[in-house]
Amino acid sequence: MKHNFGAGPCILPQEVFQEAAKAVLDFNNTGLSILEISHRSKEFEEVVAETESLVRELLNVPENYSVLFLQGGASQQFAMIPMNLLPEGGKAAYLDTGVWASKAAKEAKNFGQIDIVASSKESNYTYVPKGFDIPLDATYFHYTSNNTIYGTEIFEKPQTTVPTIVDMSSDILSREINVAEFDLIYAGAQKNMGPAGVTLVIVKNDLLGKSGRSIPTIFNYQEHIKAGSMYNTPPVYSIFVSMLNLRWLKAKGGIKAIEQENIIKARTLYDEIERNTFFKGTAAVEDRSRMNITFVMDTPELEAEFLTLAKERNLIGIKGHRSVGGFRASVYNALGITSINALVDAMREFEESHK
Ligand code: PMP
Repeated sequence: MKHNFGAGPCILPQEVFQEAAKAVLDFNNTGLSILEISHRSKEFEEVVAETESLVRELLNVPENYSVLFLQGGASQQFAMIPMNLLPEGGKAAYLDTGVWASKAAKEAKNFGQIDIVASSKESNYTYVPKGFDIPLDATYFHYTSNNTIYGTEIFEKPQTTVPTIVDMSSDILSREINVAEFDLIYAGAQKNMGPAGVTLVIVKNDLLGKSGRSIPTIFNYQEHIKAGSMYNTPPVYSIFVSMLNLRWLKAKGGIKAIEQENIIKARTLYDEIERNTFFKGTAAVEDRSRMNITFVMDTPELEAEFLTLAKERNLIGIKGHRSVGGFRASVYNALGITSINALVDAMREFEESHK
């Protein structure tokens, strides 16, 4: 058995892979592959409807929010958000907690004045800035709830009365959230929702249509809402596999249940990082992510040695991002505690053999 700690695309449940594989050959006993059916067919309309309804149910999405399945990844949202929301000459506030947060701000600069309210760049984003002010005349405030590369996570929405937009690409569906606190939530699917190719957007309807800008149709949220995520051919298979994965999550007891597992998984690994003198966490303790756990060793030689051992123990995808180095264990919903234990065992084995 391989233990896939990859940061995304990443592990999905085995039963989801099996169902997904079956549907490639015969979708719902139609005698047709999911890959060849029309996106306008009744069968696929039912898939989109069920996927939306599972998102609404699992995240408890209020009625006055739309749920969209779009393409272009979270990166397209970096541009779509200011394009839809910022009036000419308008201003938005961004919190800089990593490369993705800073890319989001960079794209927004094409559309207006961007205030960086705080940044932890000077420490290579090892912590989340606190106690910053968000200007009240900003059209919106944007932040990234989980910093996939650096292993930091923001569990509480920063206090502000300004409409708040959050990139939840790497922690959506991993913990309970109150959607009503946010005005727009977006996430590339390829961590906890499904395969790459689809992006989830949850947007409060009355946030839209106020910028006075002329927005190209394909980038206009209101057009996608009107068309029920079917303005153009949607990513049929990615939506279908997301639906299977959301069914799996619901059957497991939903987000409340998976959050408890995620807490235990993260604690198990952080405890070992603290106990084992060969390893050191890189993120500030109070900002530690439950999804991406980053740690290093004292020398590149030790790290290379541990990586070899990890490979031998079937621990895949634990090499850290180049901008942090060391290791990153991504422990998304579908990665079971067995895999965490396998990593902890390898860390102990390494310690034993170097005494
Ligand atoms: N935001 C976050 C937090 C991410 O982790 C990523 C990708 N790993 C992105 C944005 C970019 O997403 P995409 O590749 O879907 O554009």
